Amino acid sequence: MTVTTRFAPSPTGLLHVGNLRTALHNWLFARSQGGRFLLRIDDTDRERSREEYVDAARADLAWMGIVPDGEARQSERFDRYEARFAELVSAGRVYPAYETPEELDLRRKVLLGRGLPPVYDRAALKLSDEQRAAYEAEGRTPHWRFKLAHDAPIIWDDRVRGFQKFDPAALSDPVIRRGDGSWLYLLPSVIDDIEMGITHVVRGEDHVSNTAAQIQMFEALGATPPVFAHAALLTGSEGKLSKRLGSLGVSHFREEGIEPQALVALLARLGTSDAVEPFADPAPLIQSFSFSRFGRAPARFDEGELAALNARIVHQLPFDAVADRLPEGVDATAWEAVRPNLAKVSEAQDWWQVIEGPITKPGLSDEDRDFLAMAVQAAEAIDWSGTPWQALTGALKAQTGRKGKPLFLPLRQALTGRDHGPEMAALLPLIGRARAVARLRAAAASA
Ligand code: GLU
Repeated sequence: MTVTTRFAPSPTGLLHVGNLRTALHNWLFARSQGGRFLLRIDDTDRERSREEYVDAARADLAWMGIVPDGEARQSERFDRYEARFAELVSAGRVYPAYETPEELDLRRKVLLGRGLPPVYDRAALKLSDEQRAAYEAEGRTPHWRFKLAHDAPIIWDDRVRGFQKFDPAALSDPVIRRGDGSWLYLLPSVIDDIEMGITHVVRGEDHVSNTAAQIQMFEALGATPPVFAHAALLTGSEGKLSKRLGSLGVSHFREEGIEPQALVALLARLGTSDAVEPFADPAPLIQSFSFSRFGRAPARFDEGELAALNARIVHQLPFDAVADRLPEGVDATAWEAVRPNLAKVSEAQDWWQVIEGPITKPGLSDEDRDFLAMAVQAAEAIDWSGTPWQALTGALKAQTGRKGKPLFLPLRQALTGRDHGPEMAALLPLIGRARAVARLRAAAASA
């Protein structure tokens, strides 16, 4: 049996970091097993679903390097849901209920007030044909509930959470279809998982109680439930479930200059016992992916950690991977010279400006200006075809006796206008003889 997973977003908004992580888990697991990964668009809610969010979900996955092996849409499968729903109606596993939301709310409050769990009392099962007809005459259209079997506990061996056991009598019979005929996600998802051969349902632990009900739906439809893995949720860096996480998506990360590899490397390992490492290629993440590594505690998503990881990824990126994002004129040599100093690729612009000029004039002491006047002559005399920085500093060291910081810093300041930056040995050939001499002369002459 081919391992098959799916990522099933509802296109009612943009994917947030928690969704991206779920998608990644599904993809990594499928890849690690030589299996298939499907994108399923859960667009049964026609009112709230938007095509732009479908496009955005595809684009977000593509940005992360995740290419699904297939795509399905629930809105194209209503006839399947209708057919299987009819089977469940005939088998007595779904039933119509007529309560209004207000009535249900009131009952919940009464139960809670008595200190009882707010479980639906199945009043609809006790209605006579006459009572049902009376409701319908009143203009009420029923919603539909799945009738949970109460005869045995619901159990499954969760790949992340371990052995799980639920008492079905402690759960409300879930509403699977609204009065207007529209579907809630629970049953269509099960029908799709069966018909698409999903072997592993990988999602967040906010779905655990859905799983209990869905296991019975698989069984009611004559199917063996898939394996389930529910990852603990992410928390914000402030240590609690944060609103901010819900608003962090791919467009935010792109604006922040985060490389997809950094997000992938972090999300693949967050909440596991494996260290987060700056993998620029997903192969080791796929190879090491295992649900047994996942912990039960919420995993902390820290944007600072992401930024630091991003810098370590940027330091490895080859020229070809970034060429189309670099300023005109930056070649592989220039990229490699500035790369170790970047936290994000866009910062290459700043160092290119330093190479091309104009640069800001440094403030210098009289002594340093005299030293730089000597540097002008040395720069004119050295061989620029080899290693000009070594040649320049070697000559000035011999001439002035300066070494260390007093030797290097005024040169860096005069040549770049800054106190820090990429290795001068890499930068100076890019600045070149003409600009270097002019900058040293300007610094020597500055008042
Ligand atoms: N559309 C559901 C959601 O976004 C899918 C959950 C699942 O993976 O089954 O929550």
